Amino acid sequence: MNIQSEIKTAVDPIKLDKLAEVAVKVGLQLKHDQDLVITAPLAALPLVRLVTKHAYLAGAGLVTTFYADEESTLARYAHASDSSFDRASGWLYEGMAKAYANGAARLAIAGDNPMLLASQDPAKVARANKANSMAYKPALEKISNFDINWNIISYPNPSWAKVVFPDLPEDEAVFRLAEAIFAASRVDLADPVAAWAQHNANLAKRSSWLNGERFSALQFTGPGTDLTVGLADGHEWHGGASTAKNGITCNPNIPTEEVFTTPHALKVEGHVSSTKPLSHQGTLIDNIQVRFESGRIVEAKASRGEEVLNRVLDTDEGARRLGEVALVPHSSPISASGILFYNTLFDENASCHIALGQCYSKCFLDGASLSQDQIKAQGGNSSLIHIDWMIGSDKVDIDGIRPDGSKAPVMRQGEWA
Ligand code: ZN
Ligand code: ZN
Repeated sequence: MNIQSEIKTAVDPIKLDKLAEVAVKVGLQLKHDQDLVITAPLAALPLVRLVTKHAYLAGAGLVTTFYADEESTLARYAHASDSSFDRASGWLYEGMAKAYANGAARLAIAGDNPMLLASQDPAKVARANKANSMAYKPALEKISNFDINWNIISYPNPSWAKVVFPDLPEDEAVFRLAEAIFAASRVDLADPVAAWAQHNANLAKRSSWLNGERFSALQFTGPGTDLTVGLADGHEWHGGASTAKNGITCNPNIPTEEVFTTPHALKVEGHVSSTKPLSHQGTLIDNIQVRFESGRIVEAKASRGEEVLNRVLDTDEGARRLGEVALVPHSSPISASGILFYNTLFDENASCHIALGQCYSKCFLDGASLSQDQIKAQGGNSSLIHIDWMIGSDKVDIDGIRPDGSKAPVMRQGEWA
């Protein structure tokens, strides 16, 4: 353990070390001799060092970390020429894709300031995001196709903590956010690795019930919401740990409370309202209201960030269609914490949600052996983006619709029926 980083931060060093251990042993299940690529905000350096230690203890071949710095990002918006905003580091993502093709695992440490770009020109933000999404595609495909074991964890970055707890002094905000991350990631328990095994078993029970039911659609009803989400042909529900194509069973998201599957890209009808604000690449999009026809968003409004939302929807044809639907009980520990994290990794695990854009091929029966054309034929969506947003609350009911039209209750007032 690095003593210096303990003194500088209010974050509990023992729990931080356990988080690093859980990332390596549960999140990644890093294998002996496997390389690891980490991306992290510069502020997460103390956690990166601990993860690197645990990775080498687990026998990692080589650990390589890429840092992003918020001040440097803002310097681009303040001083870069206009043409800068259509550029992205494609060479870096091609290198990452190559590392994954050669067997490396991937760890992303989240914790960026959700409001970093809130006062920047939305057109520049959208251009930079699009250029980045296009450049990122070769690496993202390896992740969304689940070719490799991968994991996301979070670090209580002070700039993020101040957004979550705006009324607290910075030290206290960081401490509170850190404790919330530790609890949600189950590293405040005596044996986090065993706790994750138990949690994974519970999530597997939910997915196998849904897989047994073989609903053809889910119907969401609640305030501002009457939405029928057709499910893809041969869809499969997943939750918790699952096995990547490289044969390694990992937990991609820590925390995770969801069971999720693939909607049919052409069979979503009705309207839906978001139940939590969505933090997207440094801007906040709130009170989203959209209407679907034949799977496509034909109308989109938001009380805040509407311009960013509409630009996101214009990314490509698949950006207006769904790639994921996920069920999370309202009583999930993250939801019960009452904290709005402004971070999708947490907020999506506090609420049922849908995602615009790319689907996960593993959410099909026999998904690993399906071609892109077969996935499309079964209703799987493709896009440069994958953006989850929250539509569940204790006022939303969900019914499963069977192929013969009969209904079964799935959730009532936000809880499993
Ligand atoms: Zn999800
Ligand atoms: Zn998602």
